[in-house]
Amino acid sequence: MNTSANEIFPKGNKAPAEYFTGTAWVRPLVSPDSGLNCVIGNVIFEPGTRNNWHTHTGGQILIATAGTGYYQEKGKPIQLLEKGDVVTIPADVVHWHGASPDSEFTHLAINPNTQEGVVSWLQPVTDEEYNSYNK
Ligand code: MN
Repeated sequence: MNTSANEIFPKGNKAPAEYFTGTAWVRPLVSPDSGLNCVIGNVIFEPGTRNNWHTHTGGQILIATAGTGYYQEKGKPIQLLEKGDVVTIPADVVHWHGASPDSEFTHLAINPNTQEGVVSWLQPVTDEEYNSYNK
């Protein structure tokens, strides 16, 4: 499924390979020096791409805008994300997010409370974990 015609923001920069499995693109929208203690970026994941397990000390909000994606909190089943879905992630909850296997996926990532820290990266999501989605 090609969703590029539905994209709002351009692709931006390639996400750091050490924290992602597959290829993702990050477009910064609100920078750390805004003075608002809030960082916002648009992230485009190629099909099958996901970030590592991680936490946000200040919490995070994801807003899905295109394609079909996955979100999982440690110890819970994978949740399917589609355009218009909003995920509120409490501080320090271990989780990951990314595209489903057959679709590109785009979300806005809003990181509030950046004075508390932004992200702490953990281990990669294994293929077994990624493929555990129950349709
Ligand atoms: Mn996150």
